[in-house]
Amino acid sequence: ALAVSLRGVTKTYDNGVMALGPFDLAVRKGEFISLLGPSGCGKSTALRLIAGLSAASSGTVRMSRHEGPAQIGHGIGFVFQEPTLMPWTSVRENVRLPLKLGGIPKAEGRARADAALASVGLADFANAFPRELSGGMKMRVSLARALVTDPDILLMDEPFAALDEITRFRLNNDLLALWRSLGKTVIFVTHSVFESVYLSQRVVVMTARPGRIQADIRIETVEPRG
Ligand code: ADP
Ligand code: ADP
Repeated sequence: ALAVSLRGVTKTYDNGVMALGPFDLAVRKGEFISLLGPSGCGKSTALRLIAGLSAASSGTVRMSRHEGPAQIGHGIGFVFQEPTLMPWTSVRENVRLPLKLGGIPKAEGRARADAALASVGLADFANAFPRELSGGMKMRVSLARALVTDPDILLMDEPFAALDEITRFRLNNDLLALWRSLGKTVIFVTHSVFESVYLSQRVVVMTARPGRIQADIRIETVEPRG
């Protein structure tokens, strides 16, 4: 079954910049794919179209459960390059926010936030404030916030690009373990060849702007996955 499909999608911004396409992509449920390409080729644009944060200029974007693009918090989890945490409230409340916005009662929201924090290794940090955390830990909080609604699809936009290499590698390993245990569809945007090949089952290489698909490569692994 398909999780996401894009057909003949193009995006031209109001300022006339042709950012994407025509772009065709079908992602199967449970797949972990990377979008790899040079800066400015339209990777973030593609992700924002899938997330429903921006409308395609032409073509269609379909999600398995929805007609048209889905919404963050409704089947989609989004992790931005910047963790974008609210500084004045606790880690638990930051993670609970999408549930609060979705009208989930406070007690249930807190329990689910704590479970999401545990899944990213931050069980002991629910009462901490974002400023007390390292960059890697903030990114883990951001990941927990994306997972707390139990989305079908996790979209990640160069999430680890600002982290030091060791922290980044730890997060790569933990993300892989999460993917194996949760069985979510992941679309991961990166300009790191290493990261794309290490993490994904499939690497979609994009051309320079306007981004089209240059190659769609299946990564064979020796150890069983999934
Ligand atoms: P990538 O994620 O691959 O770096 P983006 O999707 O962010 O690429 O951007 C693709 C192109 O579209 C770039 O030239 C960028 O400057 C332009 N662009 C991105 N967002 C906007 C916007 N909101 N308005 C106008 N141009 C934009
Ligand atoms: P992460 O390990 O989350 O990728 P960092 O490597 O930047 O982030 O961590 C910086 C500091 O925070 C280190 O001293 C590390 O031991 C500590 N730290 C990170 N995660 C945890 C955790 N889950 N529990 C306790 N300390 C942690």
